[in-house]
Amino acid sequence: MAQITIDPQGEKIESFALLSGHKIHAIGLGTWRAHNARDSVYTAIVEAGYRHVDTAAEYGVQDEVGHGIKAAIHAGVERSALFVTSKLWCSDLSRERVRPALMKTLNELQLGYLDLYLIHWPFRLKDGASRPPKAGEVSDFDWEGVWREMEKLVKDKLVRDIGVCNFTVKKLKRLLDIAQIMPSVCQMEMHPGWRNEKMLEACKKNNIHVTAYSPLGSRELDLIHHPVVERVAGKLNKTPGQVLVRWAIQRGTSTIPKSDHSERIKENIKVFSWEIPELDFQAICDIPDQMRVLDGEELFVNKSDGPYKSVEDIWDHQI
Ligand code: NDP
Repeated sequence: MAQITIDPQGEKIESFALLSGHKIHAIGLGTWRAHNARDSVYTAIVEAGYRHVDTAAEYGVQDEVGHGIKAAIHAGVERSALFVTSKLWCSDLSRERVRPALMKTLNELQLGYLDLYLIHWPFRLKDGASRPPKAGEVSDFDWEGVWREMEKLVKDKLVRDIGVCNFTVKKLKRLLDIAQIMPSVCQMEMHPGWRNEKMLEACKKNNIHVTAYSPLGSRELDLIHHPVVERVAGKLNKTPGQVLVRWAIQRGTSTIPKSDHSERIKENIKVFSWEIPELDFQAICDIPDQMRVLDGEELFVNKSDGPYKSVEDIWDHQI
């Protein structure tokens, strides 16, 4: 259930409670493929009221994100009011590289701690691996060693929460079997074109909060012009983008839409003072043709040498 607070300007902000007791704001700004992350982050925080920013070492924009956050803090926003997420890239998915990777991220972001540090994908890549990977460039990783290091980051107060992305139910079970500190968040692709219901259920069952990434279908799937989304938006006098973001929150997930445009950044967070009525919500939930947009094929599949010879292998043959 989302909790509602009122910000100093009197605007409603929704957030979700994490297992750790910390709160995650329902909407964050995504920064993958951002063209001017500094300005987008500043606009989001200072002009649009975002308090949650999602980034990753792999996006190559952490310096810019850091400058945007610094400018927002300079403009009067408290660091403690912000929720900043970053992610551990696959080439750093080994016991000895977790902490140095986090320190590099903190340095780039000019921050003393992260609110959330996520394993970006549960596969190890060799430094400089090709896309798609050549033989021997992709492998499983040392789960216990890596998670123990992630836990130490929490104990040392360098990160407040830890979690994972792009997991399956099978992988979640494997992690829960070894975790001493539970993953607070699982970040997954989720939108009306890929509802990812099994993972959502598995996380709920284990009290793990889910953040929905690519809530607008990313660049690859045009949900903005989907007839059902357009119909609901027209009926409610909202934009299709707002309907997609609101749908994610009503499912109990936080979500992190990305935009390079200040008008869209502002538009995407104006979703706290209204709801999608039940029948319309259900109509969006009933959109057929479910398909992942980000299936990991390019990154991890090596058809002849494996160990992941197909997209199905990556997702443990679980839908
Ligand atoms: P989104 O679903 O957020 O879609 C972004 C696209 O939608 C961009 O092309 C953007 O264009 C456009 N857009 C944004 N707002 C609107 C609007 N109101 N109306 C119409 N079009 C709009 O895709 P992402 O894949 O970027 O996902 C969001 C974030 O999730 C990422 O940025 C990243 O932070 C995170 N993520 C995490 C992953 C993981 O593995 N953990 C994987 C993928 C994403 P424009 O910029 O021109 O406005």
